[in-house]
Amino acid sequence: AFKKELSAKGLNVCTQITDGCRGTYLSKSGCQGFCAAGPLVSVGDIFYTKVKESDVSEIVEKTVIAGEIVERLLYTDPGHGQKCKTINDVPFYRKQHRILLKDCGKINPEDINEYISHGGYSALAKCLNELKEEGTIEEIKKSGLRGRGGGGFPTGLKWQFTRASKGKQKYMICNGDEGDPGAYMDRSLLEGNPHAVIEGMIIGGFATGASKGLFYIRAEYPLAISRVQAAIDAAYKAGLLGKNILGSKFSYDLEIRYGAGAFVCGEETALMRSIEGQRGTPTPKPPFPSVKGLWGCPTSINNVETLANIPLIIYNGSEWFSKIGSGKSTGTKVFAMTGKVKSSGLIEVPMGITIKEVVFDIGEGAYDGRVIKAVQTGGPSGGVIPAEKFDMPITYESLIEAGSMMGSGGLIVMDNSDCMVDIAKFYLEFCVEESCGKCVPCRIGGYQLLKILKDISEGKEVGDYKEKIGNLALTMQKASLCALGQTAPNPVLSCLKSFGHEFDEHVKEKH
Ligand code: SF4
Repeated sequence: AFKKELSAKGLNVCTQITDGCRGTYLSKSGCQGFCAAGPLVSVGDIFYTKVKESDVSEIVEKTVIAGEIVERLLYTDPGHGQKCKTINDVPFYRKQHRILLKDCGKINPEDINEYISHGGYSALAKCLNELKEEGTIEEIKKSGLRGRGGGGFPTGLKWQFTRASKGKQKYMICNGDEGDPGAYMDRSLLEGNPHAVIEGMIIGGFATGASKGLFYIRAEYPLAISRVQAAIDAAYKAGLLGKNILGSKFSYDLEIRYGAGAFVCGEETALMRSIEGQRGTPTPKPPFPSVKGLWGCPTSINNVETLANIPLIIYNGSEWFSKIGSGKSTGTKVFAMTGKVKSSGLIEVPMGITIKEVVFDIGEGAYDGRVIKAVQTGGPSGGVIPAEKFDMPITYESLIEAGSMMGSGGLIVMDNSDCMVDIAKFYLEFCVEESCGKCVPCRIGGYQLLKILKDISEGKEVGDYKEKIGNLALTMQKASLCALGQTAPNPVLSCLKSFGHEFDEHVKEKH
């Protein structure tokens, strides 16, 4: 609609900066994050929310041509009732620390030159020419970067292990199989700034000694796949992939493999089996992928967000990165904040920020007349954190201490209209559905645990359900083969711990 309207007004429209723009530059960006107020349109610094097609001609006439503001399309700060003219005036963005998402809603992800004009691929050049392999790993280690896929393992150490493993062929894999309910961080990064992840992949390949990288992206993410493919093609054309990258001795190839939507294929051993063409089921560790990974070769598997951090760390230095965050949790974390909160969306916050700040300052709190009672972090592997604990900082350690986990970044807010037995049932149902069935504790344990929850909901006789749940959960945690089964009871246990009275009320109500 904008293209049509701008052309109709006689303006010369360009959509790529590749050949130099001599007119009005119109760019389709990646996600700007503020889902609750979308569709979003920025004209220079002016930030419009909830834009409809019927608003386009007014925006072009008043803002693009006359430089005036269309007041009714500005976001109103509910705290002060003031209109927010720029993105920085909007409360949703004010407390964020956007380093990964900074360019996501700004640059055209389909134009490599926009990424390059924002400093893109200079980190790669720095690694090739200055830091070399060992220096690159050292820099990542010093930054304190930990895996953003859930486990929180130090990335530099993982790379060091892969580099130290013997093998003629080594691989890098980007895990883009994001499948937690309510999570869309990785999809947004891949759609909004694919070159940042690709640059991270190339640097990782150089540092670990891998000559081949594979993106594993779920097939339900067609836009992410097409943008990553276009970015790979552009990188090959620019001499950033293939033989002798940027005139160096380093050669590296990159391609995409599709995931078929099985949650368990986000687990690294299952993911590799899936790429190999086998059934995507986990295998015991050790051996770890860095020793014996894809097709038996040393492999480093890193999450999308982890890889997107790499160029920033190299470009700005490990000290810059390690100063952001708190303690052993350095840098920022991207969350997909959804559920019963006014301003939902994709956010990036410094590690160490409190849950209260995220939910009430960025998310602007509960809907009118409602009270927020908990958040769920870590998806189906995590747990619920009750409102009385919202003063705790968001770090890997504190979330585990609270009975949840960082996970990949799903953050679901619940209010007083939510039944916590239903919440526990929902997450467990998801894990039972997604269990690959390979090991008994997860296959049978999950089913039995779910049956107890269903019985509680339906008012059937459940006896000492707390003891039964505790025993089953312990067996699953201790004896399941992979993290899916080991962590599946977490939401049930945390709901029971903080909202046990709701379970009791269900049982009493029915008898
Ligand atoms: Fe499969 Fe569950 Fe066992 Fe993991 S824990 S291997 S998902 S059955």
